[in-house]
Amino acid sequence: MSFDTVSIDFISGCDVKAIIFDVDGTMADTEDAHRVAFNRAFDQAGLSWHWSVDEYRDLLSVAGGQERIVHFLHTNTGHSPTSLYDMARSLHQAKTQYYVQSIEEGSVGLRPGIAELVAQATEQRVRLAIATTTSPANVVALLSTQLGAKWANLFEVVEDAATAPNKKPCPDVYLNVLARLGLAAEECMAIEDSFNGLAAAQRAGIPTVITRNAYTQHHKFDGAVAVVNDLGGVDLAALIQLHTQAIK
Ligand SMILES: [Mg+2]
Repeated sequence: MSFDTVSIDFISGCDVKAIIFDVDGTMADTEDAHRVAFNRAFDQAGLSWHWSVDEYRDLLSVAGGQERIVHFLHTNTGHSPTSLYDMARSLHQAKTQYYVQSIEEGSVGLRPGIAELVAQATEQRVRLAIATTTSPANVVALLSTQLGAKWANLFEVVEDAATAPNKKPCPDVYLNVLARLGLAAEECMAIEDSFNGLAAAQRAGIPTVITRNAYTQHHKFDGAVAVVNDLGGVDLAALIQLHTQAIK
């Protein structure tokens, strides 16, 4: 369903109690900053690999940076994944340093509508949470740079790769968020940008709005509550309305 086709019948009394955000590609168009950081890490290690935009778009089907490196090496060398993890871990640590530095320099801003939605939800006491399987350092770098040093006060629950080793599309990260919020899935709305993210949220039973981007335009989003290009102009009232329609 595209947002344009959503009818505007409003049924009161079914408010969203919490909005759960994915981070990469959803709160900010970070994917290209990740790609550039991977390439810098490869270069620093004296490797000639260079991930193009097209290649990285395909690699994003593998969730998790370290897992992505292992998948790439396994595909290109035939070596067993277990023999590649030490090298991947080292490359990924270097990549994270490059990525964090770039984000702290303000290379990537929040996507349209994100800051406004966070502010509206805070004002109207809709609880906020984060469900991402990126590294904690990446989340801190982006949100402290874009929302200020007290960003963590805005989000009641933050679950990331440190607490959910099984990456999306596994639902673990969302199930952890629901448990910590003490809410049922249908009381929440997830905001995602990718097929893997949608699958994770759906497996946890959470109605999900998709904000697609250049790296996920081609994904299939069957079962999403709505698919929009971004949240510019999609305010909290519109999200509540979409949620009401999704759970009735
Ligand atoms: Mg994402």
